[in-house]
Formats: sequence, structure tokens, C-alpha cells
Amino acid sequence: MKGVIIGGGIIGLSIARQLYKLGYDITVVEKRMLGRGASWAAGGMLAPLAEGLVGDFLDFCLESRDMYKSFVEEIQKETGDNVGFWECGIIYPVFSEEEKSLIQKRIKYYNKLGHNAIWLDRKDIEDKGYMLGKSVLGGAYFPDDKQVDNRRLITALVMYIKKTKIEVRQFETVRFINEKNGVFKSVTTDKGEIEADFCILAAGAWSGELEPLKVFPKKGQMFSFKTKKKEELKNILYSKRAYIIPRKDTNLVVVGATEENVFFKEGVTVAGLAILIKGLLDTLPNTKDYEIVETWYGFRPATPDGFPILGKSDIKNLYYATGHYRNGILLTPITAKIMADLIHKEEESPYLKIFSFDRFKHLMV
Ligand SMILES: Cc1cc2nc3c(=O)[nH]c(=O)nc-3n(C[C@H](O)[C@H](O)[C@H](O)COP(=O)(O)OP(=O)(O)OC[C@H]3O[C@@H](n4cnc5c(N)ncnc54)[C@H](O)[C@@H]3O)c2cc1C
Repeated sequence: MKGVIIGGGIIGLSIARQLYKLGYDITVVEKRMLGRGASWAAGGMLAPLAEGLVGDFLDFCLESRDMYKSFVEEIQKETGDNVGFWECGIIYPVFSEEEKSLIQKRIKYYNKLGHNAIWLDRKDIEDKGYMLGKSVLGGAYFPDDKQVDNRRLITALVMYIKKTKIEVRQFETVRFINEKNGVFKSVTTDKGEIEADFCILAAGAWSGELEPLKVFPKKGQMFSFKTKKKEELKNILYSKRAYIIPRKDTNLVVVGATEENVFFKEGVTVAGLAILIKGLLDTLPNTKDYEIVETWYGFRPATPDGFPILGKSDIKNLYYATGHYRNGILLTPITAKIMADLIHKEEESPYLKIFSFDRFKHLMV
């Protein structure tokens, strides 16, 4: 059976890998270089608790977080690469009494559900070796939230794909998805037509250009800096002002991210960086002399309710795996699994019902 996947981001590539292992003949079409969309721009946090998630979406994200260790171990074995998976925990500093009371409520809520969340006084955070800004009152600690170096993970996935018989068509743009009598037939690209038995739309923030889906871009800007020593910071520090993500085994620290409704407006801006730098210095003022390494931006695939769009479409054999918004790196293992189970075994995870595109039909014109 032949499948075509539109989009070579972390979602498209991980589904391609999963289906290839099950014996499918897969083609990935990517309009740029593989993996250079939101997946390259991300922070790589695996952070359902720091994100403050609740309900079914929390459960979905926790399941994926639990799958991560074996997911990266498999890929590391397949490629010999290290993808910077780090069970570093997340500290969530707060800067006002109001924020403190909200986060303490959140800790109680998560504890009731059986999740690990702890309040740390300012002194407890300082005892972990942090020189905090004067307005930090303390913070929550989520020891089970973690990270992966998304760029290293993408690099490993690309290496895996290139070693297989998966066909990769880079710098080729899909223009149309074609169906006949309600059944998927082919995609038309700027270079020709690709026929297949099924198609998965995994085009991130651009998915709405090909199907009438409520997916739109939420721009995020980020930058990185170098600390003096390797792993000078031992945890992610995630606050409303900025998140600060030290990378494993390196002296690199990534800081993010803005949330902007500016459609696909390219570029890093002074105002965007100013917000992030202020957030960093409010938290860790001693980083002020450290050297900035890189600035960048990306477009999160957002949806009206902030949840992904997964599963079947109204066209037989056309599937959606998009709209992962702020948590697409986190949701990669579970997305790849439930999409492959759907195609290979016709097995519908209950999450596919919850995150079906049907919920937005009333918004479509
Ligand atoms: C600044 C920022 C920080 C983030 N931080 C985190 C984080 O800490 N943790 C987390 O879990 N998530 C994070 N995210 C979200 C995460 O990056 C995304 O949800 C995830 O990368 C989406 O993956 P994707 O493969 O769907 O999209 P993308 O990586 O954008 O891939 C889609 C691909 O489709 C291609 N494409 C589009 N249209 C076509 C077409 N017509 N033909 C061919 N190819 C096409 C694009 O070129 C692109 O490469 C962050 C995102 C941003 C921007």
C-alpha cells in the first residue's frame, strides 16, 4: 500500500517512520528542507503540567510524555544519534501574590489527580543554585516534565528516513489534494502528480491552504545564549514572562517564546526579543553578560480551541494530523502511534473522536 504524507515536519516524519516499519511504501512531500518548520523553531519542552493543561488534553499529553523515553531510545538505537532527551524537571517561577495563589491552586489540583507538583519557596530555588531576580517569590516544581532537543530529534529522524526506502521529495509543494467520488486519488504538486492509496495531511500551520481546516499560524520568536559552563542551569525555568531551556551536555540555553497573531509575517523583531530578554533578566539577572548565539522564529499550527486535528476526513483515505499548536513536539509519539493504528489496523483510539475535525464543522463555510 502506498501512502503520501504532505509535510516533512516532526509529525509527518514520525508518522512516515511508523508506517514504513509496518511495511508501507511511503512518500513524504516537503516544500522546503525536511524539518525546518515549527518543529525546528520549537523549545522541545515536554511539559503538560507547566503548560497548565486539564481534562482529556492533559491525559493525551501525559500519555505522550510517558512514551517519550522509549520513543527516543528506539530512534537513538536506529541512528546512533543522541537527541538530547533530558528528564530535567521544570521550575515555574512566579512574580506576584496573585500568580502565587493561582499556581498553588494548580499544584493542589495536580496532586489530587496523582501528579507530581511541589511548591518551592524562593530560598528552595536558590538552594538549587539559581541567582534569582528580586521579584521572584518562589515557584512550582514539576519534576516529571522534561525536554528533548527538537533539532537533534529532527536530525535523527531525517537520518533514519534517508537510510530507508521512504521516498523524500523536498522543495516540492503540494498544490491540490484530488479525490474521485469521495475517495482520495492523488496529490498535484508544482512538479507533477503523485498517486497513492492514502494521504496524510501534516502540513503544520499551512494545512488550511489545502483543506478547509481551521488551522492558522501563531508566530513565536526565540533566541539562544551561551553559559560559561556546560549545564550551568539544571532545570527548565518556565514562567509567564519567558521560558528558559538549558540543553543537555552543552552550554546552550534556549529562551522563548512570543505568541503573535501576525499571520505568516516573517522575521525576528526588536519588540519580540525585548519581551524575551526582559523575561530572562527578571528571572536570572546574572545572565546579562552572556553571549547571544542565535535568534529565530516559527509558526505554531494553531486551532480555535488549541487542540490538534487528528484522524479521518470526509474523504475516504485522506487523514489529518495537524493543529498541534504549542505541544507538537510533546505529542509526536502518540500522534504517530494512533495515526498508524488507524491506517494499519482500522483501530480508532478514543482520542481520535475527541480531536476529530468534526468539532469545527459548524465554523466552516
Ligand atoms: C517558537 C515555538 C516554540 C515551541 N515550543 C514547543 C515546545 O517547547 N514543546 C512542544 O511540544 N511544542 C512546541 N512548539 C510547537 C511545535 O513546534 C509544533 O506543534 C510542531 O512542530 C508541529 O509539527 P508539524 O510537523 O505539524 O509542523 P511543521 O514542523 O511546521 O511541519 C509542517 C511542514 O509542512 C510543510 N508544508 C506546508 N505546506 C506544504 C505543502 N503545500 N507542500 C509540501 N510541504 C508543505 C512545511 O514546509 C513544514 O516543514 C513550539 C512552536 C514554536 C513555533
